[in-house]
Amino acid sequence: MTLKEIHERIREIGCLTFTTLDGGTPHSRIAHVCGCDERGLYFLNMSVKPFYRQLKANGKVALCGIFPSGRPTGKNPVGQPAFEPGYTLRITGEAEEVPLAEIEAGAAAGDATFRYVLEDHARYPDIRLFRLHRGKGEIYDYDFEMERRDHKLLRTRFSFGGETHEEPGCRITDACVACGACAEICTFKAVVPGEPYRIDGARCDECGSCILACPEGAIEPPRTI
Ligand code: SF4
Ligand code: SF4
Repeated sequence: MTLKEIHERIREIGCLTFTTLDGGTPHSRIAHVCGCDERGLYFLNMSVKPFYRQLKANGKVALCGIFPSGRPTGKNPVGQPAFEPGYTLRITGEAEEVPLAEIEAGAAAGDATFRYVLEDHARYPDIRLFRLHRGKGEIYDYDFEMERRDHKLLRTRFSFGGETHEEPGCRITDACVACGACAEICTFKAVVPGEPYRIDGARCDECGSCILACPEGAIEPPRTI
């Protein structure tokens, strides 16, 4: 996925949670991504805030959001909370402060985001702009009741700014004897028969049921994104 495509999803969601570290303690708040270009995603901060100090200390930030709402619409036929189809988006990465001179130069060149930031800076002089310049993440597209397609998940991972990422899902090793127990227990239709069997990571929820069911211990747990 490109940064522009990621930003389109972010705009659809609206505001996201932003989590930063204060020492070893995570802190979250809701904030807005105000722009995007080929160098990253932009968001505003104020230098008096702990949010600012935490970012200046280590630059680490994680974003997360959901579309449409995470509110259950009722119960599904087996009594679990039901959700209309949608997706979650998450990104973990590093952010840097954008110098005022760069903002002014960008605004003078006609950049809409930088122009907006300068206007806000005139109203609130403590405003600071940050660029999430390096990161990796995932769109977790769900349709748990299979209303619009014949499987529950479609996961897409991405990275930018020189970052790399692991693909989602558990993995089947050569220890597989093709007994089929994993395919039988997987409600996500993520297991592909063969010798050995294979897991389609884009469909895998990493629920772990197949790992517990495999008689050969042939299934590896997922890796961190
Ligand atoms: S349960 Fe284990 S051994 Fe059986 S098909 Fe799946 S991975 Fe292979
Ligand atoms: S971890 Fe869950 S979703 Fe993924 S293949 Fe195994 S049973 Fe299916």
